[in-house]
Amino acid sequence: METEVVSNLSYVNGDLDEFISYMNQHHLSQRRGAMIATVNPEIGYATMKDHAYHKVISSADYVLPDGVGVVLMSRLINHPLKSRIAGFEVFMSMLDLANKQSKSIFLYGAKKEVLEAVKQRIDTEYPNVVIAGSCDGYQADKRFVAKQIARSKADMVFVALGYPNQENFIYEYRHLFPQAVCIGLGGSFDVFSGTVKRAPRWMIKTNTEWLYRLIVNPWRWKRMLNIPKYAFAVLKENKGKKRYYPEQVKDQTKQL
Ligand code: UDP
Repeated sequence: METEVVSNLSYVNGDLDEFISYMNQHHLSQRRGAMIATVNPEIGYATMKDHAYHKVISSADYVLPDGVGVVLMSRLINHPLKSRIAGFEVFMSMLDLANKQSKSIFLYGAKKEVLEAVKQRIDTEYPNVVIAGSCDGYQADKRFVAKQIARSKADMVFVALGYPNQENFIYEYRHLFPQAVCIGLGGSFDVFSGTVKRAPRWMIKTNTEWLYRLIVNPWRWKRMLNIPKYAFAVLKENKGKKRYYPEQVKDQTKQL
């Protein structure tokens, strides 16, 4: 997969279909694990402010541009990314693959009732998927959950704890389940279960999903200030006015 560097993260430069078929060919079919991080402007900004978190995200095998803001900035600084690859869509496509190949999955995150609704929908719509285990996102003992995942031997591990907890969890424990493709999915379980509605299709198409989130969750406005902050920080860094990172990350284009 080709990559492109935007503000010290090496993003997958392709589209959803290319990425999924690449994952299938190079990882799932060979039971070779991988860590996928889905990065939106908020997460991108968090990596600029927190070196430890940057280390976690840049250790992922695949960093996906999960936000139109990241794609927009990539174009403004002349490192253009072809398209957004949304975590939620990767989740749906991976479930499709799992269904076609009778793969096993582990679901970790969200509230108990949300998780139950997710499992029910998977049982109905993806009958060949084997749910090898699950755990809601409010268990204090993360190590215990990691051991449960290891025992499940799942092919895919979906972690929906919100950032930075989901990436920190995968980073810390992925060595216990080396065969699994692991991905941090934020609030995707809430959307998949129908607990939270995703933006209407026309808003997703016109790249205004962020506006929908702001209207539905006005209390998020403070968090969303990180979007313009990210934009300014990327531009400043690109002009050489400020350095946010101790060292530069190189293009991680993979030739497997
Ligand atoms: N969550 C969890 N455990 C926690 C905190 C959050 O499982 O300790 C879940 C929460 O229920 C929600 C998801 O993590 O399903 C993250 O939601 P949010 O929309 O805040 O994440 P974002 O996508 O913005 O990172």
